[in-house]
Amino acid sequence: MPELRQNFFTKEWVIIATERAKRPKDLARPQVAKSVASHVDSCPFCAGNEDKTPPEVLRVPGNGNGLWQVRVIPNKFAALSRECQPNRIIHRSRRTIEGFGVHEVIVETQDHAQSTALMSDAHVAGILRAYKSRYDVLSLDPRIAHITIFKNHGIDAGTSLEHPHSQLVATPVISSQVRNRFQVALQHYDDFGQCMFCQMIEEEISEPCRVVLASEFFVALEPFASGTPFCTHIYPRRHMASFGDISAAEVTDLSRTLRTVLAKLHFGLGNPDFNYTLRSAPAESFGAKYFHWYVSIIPRLTRVAGFELGSGMFINTVPPESAAEFLREVKLGLAAGA
Ligand SMILES: [Zn+2]
Ligand SMILES: [Zn+2]
Repeated sequence: MPELRQNFFTKEWVIIATERAKRPKDLARPQVAKSVASHVDSCPFCAGNEDKTPPEVLRVPGNGNGLWQVRVIPNKFAALSRECQPNRIIHRSRRTIEGFGVHEVIVETQDHAQSTALMSDAHVAGILRAYKSRYDVLSLDPRIAHITIFKNHGIDAGTSLEHPHSQLVATPVISSQVRNRFQVALQHYDDFGQCMFCQMIEEEISEPCRVVLASEFFVALEPFASGTPFCTHIYPRRHMASFGDISAAEVTDLSRTLRTVLAKLHFGLGNPDFNYTLRSAPAESFGAKYFHWYVSIIPRLTRVAGFELGSGMFINTVPPESAAEFLREVKLGLAAGA
């Protein structure tokens, strides 16, 4: 029978539609042998074209060859600008803020054809350290209220440039979606004296039908009320409100965990388009006992249609328990992550 499940955190209801359940394999993209060049002369993110981007703000050096492994640059087509101040203008019922913000691009590799799933763990760790370094610096800016780090992989995930990259957007306000979720987490903490995420993680580990993998410091799982097929969350096992609190050992572990989950999606589902995003506490809530940061990975296997738009409710045709079982069973060759 179909089932309605409520997300413990967003409070949204989703329909787990077992009647129209799709076997995970039916969602896999047919493998089309597509050859992508490792270097594209016209690509601004490829090695040798560094002068086609704005001056870099951070570089993770390569292995002794004088080249780079990861570069962080201001987005040439930034959504927000550093050149103004977040001044508020209130005119009757209209509220505006001058478009202050920071929009950066993390160029993840020199290799145009590379994908995170196939990188070495050490390389992914370099990307995560670049995230943390920028996150730490920008969090200190009093004009910045919230930082979102995300990756769009593939056309269905909204990417406009093929070269592997992720982005960081720092905004002078906190969205009402983030605010509302924080309110739920805070209310839970007030009612029960415990972080709702720590509680959920403990429950999921003890009843591991939705766990994809558990490492020393992280656990990757399919959320109980997952709205879309194969949506996967990676939580730190230690309570931490902010990604900025991650330790060096945890970065190493997260790089392996994230790369392994992405490789399982890549090999199990035929390199699907996906988004991932780091959901971390806003700067003002660092150290909060009630919020717990995590990585959310959303493969773009289905499309949002009229029902979702009209009701705000999602229909998921792959029960999260089946998705977890499928991903656990995807075996990765020795080459991946070596
Ligand atoms: Zn390129
Ligand atoms: Zn917690």
